[in-house]
This record gives sequence, C-alpha cells and structure tokens, in this order.
Amino acid sequence: MQFAFAPPPVASIPIADSDSRFPVRRIFCIGRNYADHAKEVGATVDRGNPVFFCKPADAVVADYAEIAYPQATGELHHEVEMIVALHSGGTGIGAEKALACVFGYGVGLDLTRRDLQAAAKAKAMPWDTAKAFDHSAPVSAIHRVDAVGHPQHVQLTLEVNGCTRQQTDIAQMIWSVAGIIAELSHLFELKPGDLIFTGTPAGVGPLVRGDHFLARLQGIAELRGRIV
Ligand code: MN
Repeated sequence: MQFAFAPPPVASIPIADSDSRFPVRRIFCIGRNYADHAKEVGATVDRGNPVFFCKPADAVVADYAEIAYPQATGELHHEVEMIVALHSGGTGIGAEKALACVFGYGVGLDLTRRDLQAAAKAKAMPWDTAKAFDHSAPVSAIHRVDAVGHPQHVQLTLEVNGCTRQQTDIAQMIWSVAGIIAELSHLFELKPGDLIFTGTPAGVGPLVRGDHFLARLQGIAELRGRIV
C-alpha cells in the first residue's frame, strides 16, 4: 500500500506494568450519567435514553499530560471521568456479557469548551466543537481487569492545585459500565481499542493556564497534568 503522504501515527495509551501500549480506535462518551452533574448544568436526566457523543482518537493526551490552553474558548472546563478500555466488542451485546469486553480501567478528563457548548445547546446544534477538539482527552495508563477487577464502589476525585473540585462514588452512575457498553453496541459496532468516558459528577469548573490537576480513581489509576 502506498499512501500519498505519511499516515498519522496510531493514538495509544500506556498499559500499567507493561511495555505494550493500548491502541485507541474510537472514543465514546456518555453525558448526564450522574444526577448531581445533570442538575448543576440544568439538564434533565432521561433514564431511558443515554446521551452519547464522540471524540477523535487523536484527542488522547497520554504519558504526563501537559496541555496547551485550547484555542477558541474562554471557558475550558474539567470533567473527571472513569475510563473503560475495550479489548473486544460487537453489536447488540447483552448487558450480562458486556463486562467480558473490558480490557481495563483508567481515569481521564473530558475537557470541554463550555462556552461553545452553551452556544450549541442554545441553538440545539451538535456539541463537536465543544467536546471533540484537539487534546481534549487526557487519560491515565490503563490498568488491566486481571489486576484491578471491575470497580464497583470506588471514589473518583479531581484536585486542582491541591483543592478537591469533584468527588463521587462511581456507584452513583445512572448507567453502569455494562449498561453503557450494551447501549453503545446497539448504536455502533464496538471494537478492540475503543475507549469509553463514563460521565462526570458535580463540580465541573474552569481550568486556567498554570493549573495543576490530579485525577484519581481511588486505588486504581491516577492522572497528573498541567495547563500551559
Ligand atoms: Mn463528560
């Protein structure tokens, strides 16, 4: 195969305690998956209809996340989220079989240009410019299920400059990991390398240049980074 120019490199994330890396195929995100966050942004939760959106694979920022403040916004927001990494997929996956698709777990930030999202919402337009921009998905290393199991009652936290901004128990998620995989697989064919951002709890807020962040899935994964 001859390409007209060099194809882009495969986006990838380190795997904890391993020399191999997790190649990222697609990034799926669920919105409004914690009732307290939906409330703070004035959204109603439709428990029968999850809100999904995507980010491009190359939005991933791995290996120490030093992130340039993005263009075209004056309101960059953090959303700390548990991340699910898949090693298998398919369509029409039943919730009872969904966890078998999971390779491992991590933690990341669904960075959001909140001003652009507000403008899009006001016009009932898509969220792409608010969510799918360059470097909008800083993520930790992926920790294998073999090592960490499937997290049930685990604290998800975000500190900015040493102060806690967001904190929840992931058991507060409206859609469970298995439920999210099952729902997504009725909309898309899931494949190895897919990442899922599982939604953010209350406490979203601004990040500015110079901020240090520390996202943590207690006892499982950590992500440190800085906005520059
Ligand atoms: Mn989010």
